[in-house]
Amino acid sequence: MAKVLITSALPYINGIKHLGNLIGSMLSADLYARFMRATGNEVLFICATDEHGTPAEIAALEAGMPVEEYCAKQHEIQAQIYRDFALSFDYFGRSSSPQNHELTNHFYHRLDDAGFIEERILPQVYSVDDGRFLPDRYIIGTCPHCGYTNARGDQCENCTRLLEPTDLKEARSAISGSSNLEVRQTKHLFLKLPQLADRVEEWIDSRKDWPLLVSSIAKAWLKEGLQDRGITRDLKWGVPVDRPGFEGKVFYVWFDAPIEYIGATKEWADAAPGRDWKRWWYVSPGADDVRYVEFMAKDNVPFHTVSFPATILGSGEPWKLADYIKGFSWLNFYGGKFSTSQKRGIFLDQALKEYPSDYWRYWLVANAPETDDASFTFSGFAGVCNKDLADTFGNFVNRTLRFCSARFGDAVPEGGEPGEMETELANNVQATLARYTAALEGMQLRRAAAELKELWTLGNVYVDRAAPWTAIKTDKDRAAVILRVAINLARLYAIVGSPIIPDTCARLREALRVEIAEAYWPVDADAELRALAPGHKFEVPPPMFKKIAPEEVVDLAQRYGGDEEDEAAA
Ligand SMILES: [Zn+2]
Repeated sequence: MAKVLITSALPYINGIKHLGNLIGSMLSADLYARFMRATGNEVLFICATDEHGTPAEIAALEAGMPVEEYCAKQHEIQAQIYRDFALSFDYFGRSSSPQNHELTNHFYHRLDDAGFIEERILPQVYSVDDGRFLPDRYIIGTCPHCGYTNARGDQCENCTRLLEPTDLKEARSAISGSSNLEVRQTKHLFLKLPQLADRVEEWIDSRKDWPLLVSSIAKAWLKEGLQDRGITRDLKWGVPVDRPGFEGKVFYVWFDAPIEYIGATKEWADAAPGRDWKRWWYVSPGADDVRYVEFMAKDNVPFHTVSFPATILGSGEPWKLADYIKGFSWLNFYGGKFSTSQKRGIFLDQALKEYPSDYWRYWLVANAPETDDASFTFSGFAGVCNKDLADTFGNFVNRTLRFCSARFGDAVPEGGEPGEMETELANNVQATLARYTAALEGMQLRRAAAELKELWTLGNVYVDRAAPWTAIKTDKDRAAVILRVAINLARLYAIVGSPIIPDTCARLREALRVEIAEAYWPVDADAELRALAPGHKFEVPPPMFKKIAPEEVVDLAQRYGGDEEDEAAA
């Protein structure tokens, strides 16, 4: 048993997230957290809303609410959606918490004491028409590196390079669109990242097992050379800077947001007695036995491989650094981007109104954008759900339990002895289970979904070949053996499917009257296929998945802005 600390990139407070956000951090982290718990590890799974910065201010303004109230409300909305998606956070915190305010200033003071902070007066873009300084991300223009025309002043989301607003060509205000911008003087704090570059590089080089997507982004960023980076802003909403002369300024959200991983752990500890947050984060003494795994989409990789580690290393204190980082590419919607403003794509609240969460969880895991971008279409979604969930998993469970109930009653039948076919099945299940387990351990999501599906297929192939409906005419004991094995296989599915489709598996365990400890993971297929003894009662559950009809696909695509005709032509 090990201690595993798992964090998902923090969803921004402004608005409900889409399917790509879900698989790119929170759902993938949940899958791993569930598997790690099942295999007997002590897990702490932390996430939070990222609440500071201008977009929250602007959104609150648009909603006609004080920003504190807006954030509290949006936090609750997001938290409920994640509960409905069965995300098993041990704590879902808020970056605006007092704990994070305190820790952010703590890190700032440590960095300042160590000489890594510099005060500078600098020119900053002021929007005359908006009557305010514009934060970097509220200046939009053309990326000097790749020519993307909607690059933000802090980062180009097309090529992921970090930018300064003055790098942009044809700069304009993202608030008003006005190009009536002028430069004014203002005082800010800078983190001297170049002085920490060697230590960051040494740490990255020591992490040899990272996925290529992550290590290549980290190394490209280091190779380009680190720049001093501003950690304060002229905003009201954020963590106030504890320094004379900085009244009315706050820390920049990139600085305080990752510290909230620690802040949320402290929130978790403060919420109940007997919890020790430092035990998970502070290496000496304490967290030296913790394995820390982070999940995020690729635009977040530079902050987690360079800036946040620089904050931690520069503090001179033994805080935990990531042992492993799982990064993701983009999930697109019909080949283009999800867009809130253009009402393009399906967002998480809408998704749950259409189908139960396990449909989405399964499709997203089976199509996770692990090495390349992936694209969501409703026809692709319906195809996978119908074939894998309804026809393979659902059909196996339903037809075997129903047949058993009709011919033997609602209990595991007795009689007969397993034969060659059952030995072969157990061997195949053993091998597939081992591959599935390895995929989950390695956080290989697509492979995990494929191996789980293979387990379901083995059940169908076995029942088709063994044909209990034929056997029962001549040899009732033989039919009893087949159904006994099939019901035990359904029990196995109800356990091992839990990391991916937890709600369905819980329903199936209930129907089979099976109770499983949270820390249980099957290793011996032969024993698992004998677990439920003759006489064990069960209920036939209603069909676990409903097939998605072609007319539904057309209707969904129309309502959510997907072009199925283009899809068919491609
Ligand atoms: Zn670019």
